[in-house]
Amino acid sequence: MSTTKQNPAKIIALFGGTFDPIHLGHILPVQATAKWLGAEQLHLIPAHIPPHKIATHASASQRAEMVSIVCQQYNYEIDTRELNRKSRSYTIDTLHEIKAEQPQTSLYFIMGMDSLLSFTQWYKWQDILNLCNLVVNIRPGYDHDALETKLEPELASRLVYNIEQLKRQQVGQILIHECKELDISSTTIRAKIKAGENCRQLLPEAIYNYIEQNKLYR
Ligand code: ATP
Repeated sequence: MSTTKQNPAKIIALFGGTFDPIHLGHILPVQATAKWLGAEQLHLIPAHIPPHKIATHASASQRAEMVSIVCQQYNYEIDTRELNRKSRSYTIDTLHEIKAEQPQTSLYFIMGMDSLLSFTQWYKWQDILNLCNLVVNIRPGYDHDALETKLEPELASRLVYNIEQLKRQQVGQILIHECKELDISSTTIRAKIKAGENCRQLLPEAIYNYIEQNKLYR
């Protein structure tokens, strides 16, 4: 890929998830990370049925609507290609398609630490690393050495700790980004709603209202 200092590759940050529902634990860290990376765009990619999950709770179109509401509010892009596939979602297929459409663009795939720890179980994970860099959000003050010993050697050898190092190569590296972690998960939100507990503070207001109006997760 031919890019120069005067004309650096455009950066697109990608963030995939089941988003069942999308919540502030997704949005706030990924927003901070995309800004920190200097990404021109942030694309949210709702998964159809992720390989590691049996089913989703809200329908595909409801999850897409929720992500779309967030994208309008925060000025992100929604990428619905995985939902349109109507079969299980594989990140490798998505990355191949995006790269074919935008060969000059650097792709930074953002994920939480839980996803990195299971990353070597992802379908064709080595091929994923041939198409993008990974950026992993981790709570501030974590122990570098402990992380390196916890990871498979093939992942640990790809770790970099600052953006300058990351930008030297367009693919194959894993950047750790220290970022305030919010103790929120979609699982907790669904359980709270089912139990009749309030989870207003865990969601953007528009998503809270959408869930109420559509009586989701009861
Ligand atoms: P569930 O509880 O249903 O498993 P989830 O809240 O973990 O869902 P997913 O849609 O499965 O959300 O996750 C999408 C991505 O968001 C993953 O990379 C995951 O690591 C990341 N993520 C989820 N919750 C947080 C959080 N609180 N802080 C940072 N990253 C998060």
